[in-house]
Amino acid sequence: MTSQMHSEPGMVIVGAGHSGARAAHALRDNGWNGPITLLGNEGLSPYDRPPLSKAVLLGEQTTQECLLYRDSDYTERDIDLLPDAEVTEINRASRVVSLRDGTQLGYLRLLIATGAAPRALDVPGAQLDGVHYLRTAVDAMGIIGRLDAGRRLVIVGAGFIGMEIAATAVARGCKVSIIEAAPYALMRAVPRNVAQYLVERHQQMGVDVRFGVQVERIGGRESVDSVHLLDGTVIPCDSVIVGIGVIPRVELAEAAGIDVADGIAVDDTLCTNDPHIFACGDVCSFPSRLFKRRMRLECWKNAEDQARIVARNMLGCGETYSEVPWFWSDQYDLTIQIAGMPAFSIASVTRIINEHSRIFFAIDRDGVLVGASGVGRLPDIAKDIRVAQTLIGRRAAIDEAALGNPAIKLKSLLAEVAL
Ligand SMILES: Cc1cc2nc3c(=O)[nH]c(=O)nc-3n(C[C@H](O)[C@H](O)[C@H](O)COP(=O)(O)OP(=O)(O)OC[C@H]3O[C@@H](n4cnc5c(N)ncnc54)[C@H](O)[C@@H]3O)c2cc1C
Repeated sequence: MTSQMHSEPGMVIVGAGHSGARAAHALRDNGWNGPITLLGNEGLSPYDRPPLSKAVLLGEQTTQECLLYRDSDYTERDIDLLPDAEVTEINRASRVVSLRDGTQLGYLRLLIATGAAPRALDVPGAQLDGVHYLRTAVDAMGIIGRLDAGRRLVIVGAGFIGMEIAATAVARGCKVSIIEAAPYALMRAVPRNVAQYLVERHQQMGVDVRFGVQVERIGGRESVDSVHLLDGTVIPCDSVIVGIGVIPRVELAEAAGIDVADGIAVDDTLCTNDPHIFACGDVCSFPSRLFKRRMRLECWKNAEDQARIVARNMLGCGETYSEVPWFWSDQYDLTIQIAGMPAFSIASVTRIINEHSRIFFAIDRDGVLVGASGVGRLPDIAKDIRVAQTLIGRRAAIDEAALGNPAIKLKSLLAEVAL
């Protein structure tokens, strides 16, 4: 075991993923001249994950092409990227992190950006060859060869990742089934009508989608050959992909006595209960001023936005994080863009833009617009979703008839809603 203590403690970031890499660069952008160390455990330079379930599995993009920065960008900006440096302990008293190889590293400020890990399917047979999860570039490389035309694929979980993989697998000529224990798809993300619209497209494309069913076991000797459901149904298959959600990677923080509440609990400046330690991205649970509750988001824009703010706050700016959530997904020829938190609604208004595209507005119990889900062609929905994001940020109660009427420009409603 080696052990070293850097003479000049600086900014240390645990997790060389999306938000960790962005925060490292944002620290330099904001004028920090001291040491920055970015510690990863994937053995790879930070990369963009969204293409993994889309262009990468389609064979249209390599994982190398997903890199967020060139290696020379880290060198030129004097960011010490250590992609094989798993952090095993945070010692808050001495402000030191320990790595798996015994190295110790002091910090002035520490950012925990450890992301989230796929929730494991806990049934007999789940360890068989041919059962996959998708979080990392290595995972994607393991799946890609399983999607040859004619292969039969069972996806467990009708969340965004599962549904994106289904669309990709269909495009590659696979026969796809989706198994979901809940009564409808995307339950944590969108209201039922939005989910139903997407599910119908999957069904039109030949996907066998089953709700309210649970996996009893996965069959096969060494390799998977079937999925057995609790209702007795057996679905023969060549591979299984599990997409039943993720769990924030809070172990390090928890062991160090940092507050955790479905993620590392931070205040609205993304600072933990230790003033020297911050968190951002999928692992971070933050108080939303807009929705008046603690939230944790698992999306690209949140990783981007929080990284930008947290870097400034590690330098003492004390800025509040108060972005309106925004998420996108691509399935078949459909783009889905979601602003706000549609899942917090009790009512919905649909604006049919044309035969290809529509926006589902989500209204809460006070009549306030809390979410907007655009589904269809990108040019049809992108502008309106941006306007909706502003309306949601202003906590606007908007006339439902106007929301549903495509003849009324959404932008014109902005004027009626004071700041
Ligand atoms: C397949 C896929 C498709 C997606 N598609 C979309 C999409 O279409 N739209 C969208 O909005 N979002 C999408 N997302 C979500 C988006 O990619 C994530 O929200 C984003 O990557 C979160 O960034 P993060 O920095 O919080 O976590 P991550 O990018 O996961 O980075 C965390 C890093 O920390 C490392 N780490 C963990 N523990 C340690 C440790 N102890 N020591 C060192 N390193 C550690 C992890 O290995 C990982 O590299 C997708 C995600 C996946 C997996």
